[in-house]
Amino acid sequence: MAAGTVTVADPPKTHSLQKLRSAASACRACPLWRTGTQTVFGEGGAHSPLLVVGEQPGDREDIEGHPFVGPAGRLLDRALEATGVPRDEVYITNAVKHFKWEPRGKRRLHKTPAQREIEACLPWLEAELAAVEPRVILCMGATAARAVMGGKVRVTETRGQPLTSPLGKEVVITIHPAYILRLRTGVEEAFAQFVSDVGKAARLAGF
Ligand code: SF4
Repeated sequence: MAAGTVTVADPPKTHSLQKLRSAASACRACPLWRTGTQTVFGEGGAHSPLLVVGEQPGDREDIEGHPFVGPAGRLLDRALEATGVPRDEVYITNAVKHFKWEPRGKRRLHKTPAQREIEACLPWLEAELAAVEPRVILCMGATAARAVMGGKVRVTETRGQPLTSPLGKEVVITIHPAYILRLRTGVEEAFAQFVSDVGKAARLAGF
């Protein structure tokens, strides 16, 4: 495939997360495989009633190959703990499976994935949904909400309300925990509201 060409991921027809993860590791459907170190596939409870979707792997996740293991992941851990949900009983993934970034000095700065990259990666998320069969999807941030709801969604207007996705699942939308990390004021309030949204999704899922 020519550099820059975007197609759509084509997962194998299987409900085995192991086989899907292995196939995704070789995905070249969009150019992000060149910028990311590796495909970061979802992990957690294989038949969890709650599937959590973020945007894309961050710097640490890209290096370690696991979702939500960096600073935003630690906030998610704290929120799950506060709502009494064990992290390993939740399936956690991202809408886009490779890290998109731009250099800034020696640092790799996160870049928001483009719509065509979200669409290219969507079949992997759909395959994870078909394999895990969660009762509820918790979308963290606008990219996850856009992927799951099939169009642009205003997170601030929809957060915390039970919605239904065109993918046929109950959905709760909240902010991405990385947003809280960027705040200079109102951190406690923002975290409390995040915990409240996570709790709503968890209760809907039956935790
Ligand atoms: S971001 Fe998704 S669609 Fe693009 S190469 Fe990676 S796994 Fe494939």
